[in-house]
Amino acid sequence: MPELPEVETTRRGIAPHVEGRQITEVIVRQARLRVPVPVDMVERLVGARIGALSRRAKYLLVPLVDSESGDSVGTLLWHLGMSGSLRLARLGELPKKHDHIDLVLDDGGILRYHDPRRFGFVDWLAEDSTADPRLARLGPEPLSDAFDGGRLFDLSRRRRLAVKPFLMDNAVVVGVGNIYAAEALFLAGIDPRRAAGRISRKRFDRLAAAVREVLAAAITQGGTTLRDFVGGTGEPGYFKQRLNVYGRDGEPCRRCGAELRLVTLGQRASVFCGQCQT
Ligand SMILES: [Zn+2]
Repeated sequence: MPELPEVETTRRGIAPHVEGRQITEVIVRQARLRVPVPVDMVERLVGARIGALSRRAKYLLVPLVDSESGDSVGTLLWHLGMSGSLRLARLGELPKKHDHIDLVLDDGGILRYHDPRRFGFVDWLAEDSTADPRLARLGPEPLSDAFDGGRLFDLSRRRRLAVKPFLMDNAVVVGVGNIYAAEALFLAGIDPRRAAGRISRKRFDRLAAAVREVLAAAITQGGTTLRDFVGGTGEPGYFKQRLNVYGRDGEPCRRCGAELRLVTLGQRASVFCGQCQT
């Protein structure tokens, strides 16, 4: 499943090929995504020019401007869901199965959306994208200055919720999915079952630093796959990082050798080391 680092890598991978380009044609082969493709999206997009791409949590934002006046004509809000990917194809390159949407560009490039499970979507935001309820209620970005141990400490007081689901709450901080929450808690030496309200400020400082570390490492590693966004097989692989705990239950801890344990927290599988994480 694409997590924050994959979405960020997608943004970096496609941006140089689409920014400033005019959309000449929009092809929707399958409109039934998690949110149906807006019926009027096609006519709005044709002729518009693509502005600077940005990312918020796991959303990719594609701003569009009128080619002549330069005025904003809205923003595409793109979510890759469970299995979605965006890549650049060239004119004449035939679509494969599950290639649902093409934005054909004026230089012969095609921004092509592929999504076998169709849990992703693209929606059209008319004016102020920050007012959209899907974006307005989000907590800070984990790699921004607004996210730190102090925030985790303040928001967790009196809360009995386990620290792992607390860390995965988008109102606390965005984009910390199951993999990165598990890995960050391991690096910080914190038991994922511990009540968030019982964790000290000092330990939350370590946890915030660990969250940044695991996400930044994944994004850096993703940089090596940027060429996959143009041509190639069209399946930019989700990152295969060296993970310490995620998916390794029953295997030995890399730090102490103890057998890693599996618990379920907030309906999510959580692997941890009972020796290193307290
Ligand atoms: Zn251990």
